Amino acid sequence: MNLHEYQARVLLRAAGVPVPEGDVASTPAEAEAIAQRLGGAVVVKAQVHAGGRGKAGGVKLAAGSAEAREVAAKILGMTIKGLVVEKVLVVPAAEIASESYVGLIMDRETQRPVFMVSAAGGVDIEEVAATAPEKIFRLPVDPRYGLLAHQALGLGLRLYSDFAQARAAASIMQQLYGVFVANGASLAEINPLVTTPAGQVLALDAKISVDDNELDRRPDLAALRDESAEAPSEVAARNAGLTFIKLDGNVGCVVNGAGLAMATMDLVKFYGGEPANFLDIGGSSNPEKVVNALRIITADPSVKAILFNIFGGITRTDDVANGIVTATRQFKVELPIVIRLTGTNEAEAFRILQGVGMRALSDMDEAVKQAVALAREAA
Ligand code: GDP
Ligand code: MN
Repeated sequence: MNLHEYQARVLLRAAGVPVPEGDVASTPAEAEAIAQRLGGAVVVKAQVHAGGRGKAGGVKLAAGSAEAREVAAKILGMTIKGLVVEKVLVVPAAEIASESYVGLIMDRETQRPVFMVSAAGGVDIEEVAATAPEKIFRLPVDPRYGLLAHQALGLGLRLYSDFAQARAAASIMQQLYGVFVANGASLAEINPLVTTPAGQVLALDAKISVDDNELDRRPDLAALRDESAEAPSEVAARNAGLTFIKLDGNVGCVVNGAGLAMATMDLVKFYGGEPANFLDIGGSSNPEKVVNALRIITADPSVKAILFNIFGGITRTDDVANGIVTATRQFKVELPIVIRLTGTNEAEAFRILQGVGMRALSDMDEAVKQAVALAREAA
């Protein structure tokens, strides 16, 4: 789950990271009032779960409160990477002497948190990573000991030659590590970490992603979820107990089990198609889940064909067949459906589908080929 910048900065500030003051607004009038309270020039920042807001026009300077209101009116309602801006953060404008990058991710390869720092921070860090990766320094942290003082200072010295600034950065690294661990984050990032002309070190942007598995035991973090900022299909899927990730293709996939879902997506690509989603209806048998899955997939206008790929183990394929039949009775499914079923109760499943004039396949390759072809014809 991604936190908004205005939420992430509260966690950082509580840990002692120097974060400028500021507040979040949903209307231009609220933005004006915050700017008035802060006094002087402010920066108005779109709060959406997307990077590159600056380049998209979602981060703007305003000389005073009246201008803050105008700028907020422009940014609120704007669309950035498909996401509508519902809130803006208003912060005092900082003077910037340099911009660095500090990131901390949970790395699967080394199985530990890894710091990534670069003196070439700011809005173009993705480009630095692509064209000059040697400018990004990586440090895996042993979770048994945490970030040791000398390691933190080493990271600070990668960013600044001024010793006071390096020490200030070192404290920020340790605070960031603390926030990362305490909140079960998979990512925590400050970009840019700036120096001011007066020599201060400040965190001007904050991004934190919390591991979804953390949320059951951390209701305080779960409460930070902003459903209005997430893809509607993903929200509906989560509420229906489905694991769903929307993708860019046109073959809607309904699969049981994450591994089979991955294999199905691979095969769709292998036969020249593009999956519209990752969807795992889970291991248990529940026709209702199939109905919900079909409802979510058919609501996506980019889907041109639907592919079921069900391997019946604990999942009973007759339950899935019943789910498909129930769904087509509850709402009209205009899209072609290709069904591949094999395993537990498959004879019964085939009979149920035949009863409503639908046909199932047992060969996975054949089903995927058909679904890809149907999606291509319809596109
Ligand atoms: P992002 O583009 O979504 O990562 O948004 P950021 O919050 O990182 O802002 C993008 C860029 O806007 C930063 O890299 C800075 O160059 C600039 N910026 C943000 N806040 C301030 C500020 O307070 N003062 C100045 N001068 N520039 C700022
Ligand atoms: Mn940024």
